[in-house]
Amino acid sequence: MAENVIPVAIAGAGPTGIACAVELRNRGIAAVCYDKGSLLDSLYHFPEEMRWFSTRDLLDIAGVPFAVPEAHPTRLEALAYYRGIAEKFDVRIEPESRVESIVPGRPGGLLLTLIGRKGLREVAAPAAILATGFFHNPRKLHVPGEDLSHVIRASCPRIPSMAGGAKRAAAFAAFLLDELLADVGHAQWVFTVPKLLRPYFMHHPELLGPLCSAAWETVCDLMAETVCEKQGFRPGMVAVVQTFGDQLNLHPHVHALVCAAPLLTAPPDRRRGKSNFLSLIP
Ligand SMILES: Cc1cc2nc3c(=O)[nH]c(=O)nc-3n(C[C@H](O)[C@H](O)[C@H](O)COP(=O)(O)OP(=O)(O)OC[C@H]3O[C@@H](n4cnc5c(N)ncnc54)[C@H](O)[C@@H]3O)c2cc1C
Repeated sequence: MAENVIPVAIAGAGPTGIACAVELRNRGIAAVCYDKGSLLDSLYHFPEEMRWFSTRDLLDIAGVPFAVPEAHPTRLEALAYYRGIAEKFDVRIEPESRVESIVPGRPGGLLLTLIGRKGLREVAAPAAILATGFFHNPRKLHVPGEDLSHVIRASCPRIPSMAGGAKRAAAFAAFLLDELLADVGHAQWVFTVPKLLRPYFMHHPELLGPLCSAAWETVCDLMAETVCEKQGFRPGMVAVVQTFGDQLNLHPHVHALVCAAPLLTAPPDRRRGKSNFLSLIP
């Protein structure tokens, strides 16, 4: 038997859960946010020094401006802002209440099973909102050791997974060395985009393909100009797209590993392009 009935049950007390609760409240509908951890649990576990790659105007909720001095708020500023909204609008939160399941209940209703500090219990609600984010729902690799306490997972697609990223990088490096790259010497170039253009890549990740193509065409043109000026000249190149920088900030760029053989065979006076763009990395 469900212990009580609430109008709308919200699974998750992150920014989305809070925003939903406030919108419902503005329409006179009561709601409760059940969180498996604490209020804003995901944000508490973000890297301490992080800044949001989104600007403050894209992060505000409940019609309350996110008033901070810098365009990209810090984790602490976000915690203070969202907590302030929850308090101002009396958002009802039940922490340490993991939503285990949501199944059809009474006709037209739902039954939620919760587990947490109040033990196992059931709550009936005519409607429920899932606002559980994805930070806490990593895709497991099923490799030995991934459940150890010191293994950190980050399922956000815009940041590297500490476990998955390293594994993928090692496998890709081995593939390049063992199977793909000939022993002819290579140069590495990095192609970045101006800061102002970077947000476009967040909202249109499909642009990363053309970004790679642009890098490729640039390499072809510069190499051809430097080495032989032949039309249709095609050097070998491996391009890897990265969407984040050292600070886990939004920073779409392309790392290009380019076959340097044409540069080595060029006369010494031509190994630097007319425009000085090309130089050989020993
Ligand atoms: C380092 C980092 C930087 C980021 N930067 C940005 C950015 O700049 N811009 C941007 O738009 N996004 C960014 N993100 C993504 C960010 O996670 C979301 O924008 C934001 O947290 C989404 O809020 P949310 O409420 O949907 O999810 P979350 O903040 O993840 O909240 C979900 C809540 O649900 C709870 N929960 C999960 N499962 C259950 C369950 N079964 N039962 C009960 N509760 C549950 C969790 O404890 C959590 O409190 C970033 C993520 C990371 C990791």
